[in-house]
Amino acid sequence: MPVLDQTDFSRRRLMTGAAAATVAGLAGAALPSLTLAKAPMANTQAPSFYRFKLGGFEATVVSDGPLQIGPPSADVYIGLSKDEMTKVLTDNFLPTDNVALEQNALVINTGDRLVLFDTGLGSLKMMGQDSGRLISNLKAAGIEPKDIDAVALTHAHPDHCFALMADDGTRNFPNAQIYMAQADLEFWTDEGKLSNKVIGQFVAGARKQLLPDRDRIVFVRDGREFLPGIQAMAAPGHTVGHTVFMITSQSKTICNAGDTAHHHVLAVETPRREFAYDTDGKQAVASRLRLFDMLASSRTPFVAYHFPWPGIGHVGKHGDGFRYFPAPMRLVL
Ligand SMILES: [Zn+2]
Repeated sequence: MPVLDQTDFSRRRLMTGAAAATVAGLAGAALPSLTLAKAPMANTQAPSFYRFKLGGFEATVVSDGPLQIGPPSADVYIGLSKDEMTKVLTDNFLPTDNVALEQNALVINTGDRLVLFDTGLGSLKMMGQDSGRLISNLKAAGIEPKDIDAVALTHAHPDHCFALMADDGTRNFPNAQIYMAQADLEFWTDEGKLSNKVIGQFVAGARKQLLPDRDRIVFVRDGREFLPGIQAMAAPGHTVGHTVFMITSQSKTICNAGDTAHHHVLAVETPRREFAYDTDGKQAVASRLRLFDMLASSRTPFVAYHFPWPGIGHVGKHGDGFRYFPAPMRLVL
């Protein structure tokens, strides 16, 4: 089949029927331009929230924006060399110049309570300029921070609780009770750790976030339901009080898994590798194996705070590890 020249094609089409008369009439006059319309680049993304139903609850994942971790380095996962980490990322078609971890904060509307799980980094830019978007994304999702009744914290690391307080010392969620493990509050606000070279800064920040809120903190207990349909489950290791939350409505359950695993390939397919930022790496591995075994065998979906947006999926058993299966996004509720 002969290739039709584009100009030739346009001219022939224009010269048929009524168009021929029009073009004949325009002979000598300038033809209208056939170039495409110009539009400025939008240079902006859609607001980052994703809504789904859980029985009678309405769930919304809201992003605080990604954390830029930088290129692979040795021993982020203990014993894994830089080259080995680069190979895993390459094999999974993931960038090797800058590893990004998302921050997927879950909001559950039970019908009479509005519960936010973790708050993001606030204004702290310790992991790049793209974080700190939780409040604006909440508003874009139609959720006013003053309407949040409860903030449940998986743990007291910066990327999970540093937006409780605004920079001017006021509360970002002025009407919220705060639910967290006692062990994490005590560890991360301990004055004696302020001089620690590794975690001193985290402790200083956590004290600023949590101590002014001390009178509104309620401790969660392993296995206990602390709000209707929301049960705490201790999953220690990443921090001493790291807690995941099982959320159930009308026999539908999702697990808010916090930092049980940070990377959807590295920490899932080889779950026994300790992560450098765990307080107790061995205990974190045990918690990860226990939770993932349970989620896999019961086919329970989960939200992972740091997995690719919006971080909802399943784990299935795969060899002596697991595989992550992201849930298809539903564009109509
Ligand atoms: Zn985290």
